[in-house]
Amino acid sequence: MTRPLRIAFARIAQESNALSPVRTTVDDFRRFHFLEGAALLDACRPWRTEARKFMRNAELSGFVKAARAAGDVECVPLFSAWAIPGGPLNAATFEYFRDALVDGLKRAGPLDGLFLSLHGAMNVDGVRDPEAEFVRAARSVIGEAPIGATFDLHGQLTGDKVEGIDVFVAYRTNPHRDHAKVGRKAGELLVRTIRGEIRPASAWRTLPMLLGGGPTVDFMKPMRGVYAEMDRMERDPRVLSTNLFMCHLWNDHPDLGWSAHVTTDGDPALAERLAEEIADLAWAVKDQMPPTFLSPEEALAKVREARLRRKLGTVTICDASDVVTAGSTGESTRLLEVFLRDGAGLETLVPLRDPVAVAALWETPVGEAARVQVGGRLDPARNDGLEVEGVVRAKLDQDVVGKMVALQVDHVTLVLTEGMAAAIRPAFYTELGLSVWKADVVVVKTLFPFRIFFLPYSRLSLYVKTEGITDFDAAYQLDFADPMHPRDAVHDWRPADRRRRGVERDARA
Ligand SMILES: [Zn+2]
Repeated sequence: MTRPLRIAFARIAQESNALSPVRTTVDDFRRFHFLEGAALLDACRPWRTEARKFMRNAELSGFVKAARAAGDVECVPLFSAWAIPGGPLNAATFEYFRDALVDGLKRAGPLDGLFLSLHGAMNVDGVRDPEAEFVRAARSVIGEAPIGATFDLHGQLTGDKVEGIDVFVAYRTNPHRDHAKVGRKAGELLVRTIRGEIRPASAWRTLPMLLGGGPTVDFMKPMRGVYAEMDRMERDPRVLSTNLFMCHLWNDHPDLGWSAHVTTDGDPALAERLAEEIADLAWAVKDQMPPTFLSPEEALAKVREARLRRKLGTVTICDASDVVTAGSTGESTRLLEVFLRDGAGLETLVPLRDPVAVAALWETPVGEAARVQVGGRLDPARNDGLEVEGVVRAKLDQDVVGKMVALQVDHVTLVLTEGMAAAIRPAFYTELGLSVWKADVVVVKTLFPFRIFFLPYSRLSLYVKTEGITDFDAAYQLDFADPMHPRDAVHDWRPADRRRRGVERDARA
């Protein structure tokens, strides 16, 4: 080798909820996470922070680490754009990032490969498979040079993705904790592919099934057993990576569903056999339904009963129908309404996204009373607005969430936000000077991560269904090309798989 390998790297990631009428724009990426050039490379060094206020080391740090360990590799930073889950991107935002990728690759000079951190469940108005389009656009510049990509296990696998990408690695933890590890693994495989040390041969299978929530946690039954089998497969030195995608339930794709993907070193038949095996393992867990959640009224009754737990800490309630980290708007007023009406005596903290109400209250001095409509603005067809009167307790212009106003309405403290109202960490409330300790009830709009971050405070966690776009059955409103389990009776995954992959017979025939 006369010169170091040159590998460009970039991220374009967002998980889209097709049921949200709110469009994700370039500003949403810039507000949450956007880095380019030297600043990106700097942020990916091991002792730096890749995604400020969110994650110290993620996929791109992992890739940079792999490149350093491999030696004689120059990492060429393009850009990293990450937005929180939300509605689909508008076409202009998609074109902006696609063009940025093409321009960046053209300016980068001679390249031996490309590393992409993608999500896999991005929706764009008018574009069926946006990540495959990013790969296609990249290929128009780098030709046949190897491409390695990382995905969220909630990604939607498609034939175009499989064909366009040489090296695939998806998260293996849910809730996700292995971003950097996955980046490092994909980086190692990419460098070895470029050097000709391995010859990736991939196979995949796709299942017409939807399943989410509790049964998909990686360290619990039934997924623990499935991942253990995949680990066992990877002990074979011929197997480079095994991936199981569980899809994002509210992603708009006619072939939505779980899928299996296997890459071997030059052994296509082995890849086919193992992909088939993983697909069968996944199909075997399809009837493990997520638990049914409480109604707001049932949750309120449980909070009242939990006297001792409230004394020793707080009760956290997840609004499972308005999960911001799964793309919902965060503006549902259903829990707020019930706790305002029937929750007298319970100090309650509730997050709610409403940029209009925040703007209306922003000039109101702390300590003054105000009357305002909250909710019913981002998705008025699904969410009712509510008229409230209270006292402004605190205001904050936070760099990720945007402007925040805490409004005291009787026993409820409503935290109105301009942006993301997920309340993943206690800091969402405490940065406004609100006490999580003193609260009887703390409402959050994220499904898993709050359980870790609120652990020191929470003595009881409840999940409530308030009817929204992150309900399991809300996904049934989407259009599918095949009968879809569990909405429809499906006895065999293979007919849909063969149609989706465009093959006449399966590998065993
Ligand atoms: Zn995910």
